[in-house]
Amino acid sequence: MVSLTGKTAVVTGSTSGIGLAYARTFAKAGANIVINGMGEPAEIEKERKAIETDFGVKCVYSPADMMKAAEIAGMIALGETTFGSVDILVNNAGIQFVSPIEDFPIEKWDAIIAINLSSAFHGIRAAIPGMKKRGWGRIINTASAHSLVASPFKSAYVAAKHGIAGLTKTAALELATFKITVNCISPGYVWTPLVEKQIPDTMKARNLTKEQVINDVLLLAQPTKQFVTSEQVAALALYLCGDDASQITGANLSMDGGWTAA
Ligand code: NAD
Repeated sequence: MVSLTGKTAVVTGSTSGIGLAYARTFAKAGANIVINGMGEPAEIEKERKAIETDFGVKCVYSPADMMKAAEIAGMIALGETTFGSVDILVNNAGIQFVSPIEDFPIEKWDAIIAINLSSAFHGIRAAIPGMKKRGWGRIINTASAHSLVASPFKSAYVAAKHGIAGLTKTAALELATFKITVNCISPGYVWTPLVEKQIPDTMKARNLTKEQVINDVLLLAQPTKQFVTSEQVAALALYLCGDDASQITGANLSMDGGWTAA
């Protein structure tokens, strides 16, 4: 079991889904946590408090908007001033929008590129100096099977996720001699609010029922015919934080039920 006692992890987009699983998994391993993301303030406070009481660590909330570079830098600074360091950065916030390219709203393209790709650059940029100074760091980006293969009607998402894979490799090379590893995890379909929310648009874009979208579009891609769980993704991230993973860097690790083997 990897111990993160004495370490601090910043997890973007951790008010929901996979991000929340990362935050709770790292807290269980002993890390202090900076959570981030959108949502009802009362719900976020409940989640923040639960992390503290369930795992006996400290947890603060950063309301940084992942579309704003200065707020992202502020989130890293919050972790450093509150806990003394940011040792682990998980770039996980993400949104989806499903539409044919010719109808794809320009503002949705801009938002997806900003939240799913550029925010990771801003976070990494802000976290590197402290990690270099302390001579240790772990940067984990949530990519997607869509960092390796495409699906129709997801132009911005697929472009952003392919971008994340490239950013991961570049950062890994730059940081290779500083004991800072940079990797991305590429899940297939994980049952979270992000997946649930795209079902109505996919029904419309492909003229299908909800059951058809789940079985004939989502799980069609996954040979195991099962959704990945958030906890499985978080367990791989925890492994990447341990000493056994010190030589894993620049990797794009698939957890997709065999999707990208085809
Ligand atoms: P989710 O919708 O449950 O969570 C997304 C999180 O991002 C939320 O906390 C939300 O508040 C946050 N967020 C959105 N916009 C933000 C902004 N402007 N500023 C700050 N936070 C913002 O989705 P999820 O499925 O848990 O997705 C998490 C990551 O995993 C995303 O990067 C997604 O692309 C990736 N992913 C998901 C799946 C899947 O099937 N669910 C598969 C592969 C990759």
